[in-house]
Amino acid sequence: MAIKQKGKSLKASSNDLSNTFFQLQVLNGKELTDAKFPKFAEQVSDLGFKPFKPVPLEIFQLNIGKLCNQTCAHCHVDAGPDQKEANMSKQTLEQCLNVIASVDTIKTVDITGGAPEMNPHFRWFVEECSKLGKQVIDRCNLTIVVANKKYHDLPEFFAKHKVQVVSSLPYFSKSRTDSQRGDGVFEDSIKALQMLNAVGYGKEGSGLQLDLVYNPSGAFLPDKQETLQAEFKRQLKRKYDIDFNSLYAITNLPVSRFLDYLIQTGNYEDYMQVLVEAFNPATVEGLMCRNTISVSWDGYLYDCDFNQMLDLKVAAKGQHLRDFDIKALKNRNIVLNQHCYGCTAGAGSSCGGEIS
Ligand code: SF4
Ligand code: SF4
Repeated sequence: MAIKQKGKSLKASSNDLSNTFFQLQVLNGKELTDAKFPKFAEQVSDLGFKPFKPVPLEIFQLNIGKLCNQTCAHCHVDAGPDQKEANMSKQTLEQCLNVIASVDTIKTVDITGGAPEMNPHFRWFVEECSKLGKQVIDRCNLTIVVANKKYHDLPEFFAKHKVQVVSSLPYFSKSRTDSQRGDGVFEDSIKALQMLNAVGYGKEGSGLQLDLVYNPSGAFLPDKQETLQAEFKRQLKRKYDIDFNSLYAITNLPVSRFLDYLIQTGNYEDYMQVLVEAFNPATVEGLMCRNTISVSWDGYLYDCDFNQMLDLKVAAKGQHLRDFDIKALKNRNIVLNQHCYGCTAGAGSSCGGEIS
């Protein structure tokens, strides 16, 4: 069914928060609020990570475009159907392939968006990464699989290249999913999961990994991942005969449309306080920015997808793919700011779910 969009991107509605500098001012108590919180970088430094350094690069993450068939309320990418220009070119994808081929510590190519499958070069790129022997992850919003005939064979394509499919599903009920992601999303997501199951995804012994991503619907931390996973498995199996492998519980970071939501609902200060109070030192060592490089659709390099959305480029010589310098990146200091509290709260949060 046609998805009823939740609204427009911040960019399309000319919201001040579409400006990344403005977002950083808010996070540091200089715009919209004067609430100040302890500096995240100092908390990390007090633990002995002074400065905060990476470990060998394992995950090469590409945000290949902000174009998406949905406009979810909490999207930290500000993606949507209007974001047509923000799409990675074939030339930039070729530069990515050169890097992936030349850095042997890279084990995984993690492709995100937007809806990455809407990039016209998506399938070619997956095939090339596969030829290089890399594990490919596709961060799939599920509804794209049923959105249009041209995407209906995505499950077979993913299976052929043993792509790990990581799919967002905020909840196992229609009301909670649709209120976050748009009317009709739940129904289409269930259909897509069934199509993925039909080719073997999520089935024992198939070697085809299907993981779900849960993020809270409001200004609170996720419940324990293990508990959520058990509940999702039970409910999806009982109601829809759906199987999946793991569930990742992810904390909403105060960035982009979720930051806008926090401000609009008067929850910003309370939410930041929750994150700060839940700071968990045990998560710091495993933060995803330590073994990841994130590339934007236009080829710039970042410590993670969130820094990318705030336009905090890597603090190293060679901030663009064309000047990629692995030695300089190894020696860089990771750029931290107040949004980072979202990654260290409670059990921690990363693109792979809980950290500790
Ligand atoms: S599907 Fe993902 S990328 Fe698209 S709007 Fe929703 S959260 Fe953003
Ligand atoms: S937001 Fe990015 S840089 Fe900050 S702690 Fe999380 S992963 Fe690291």
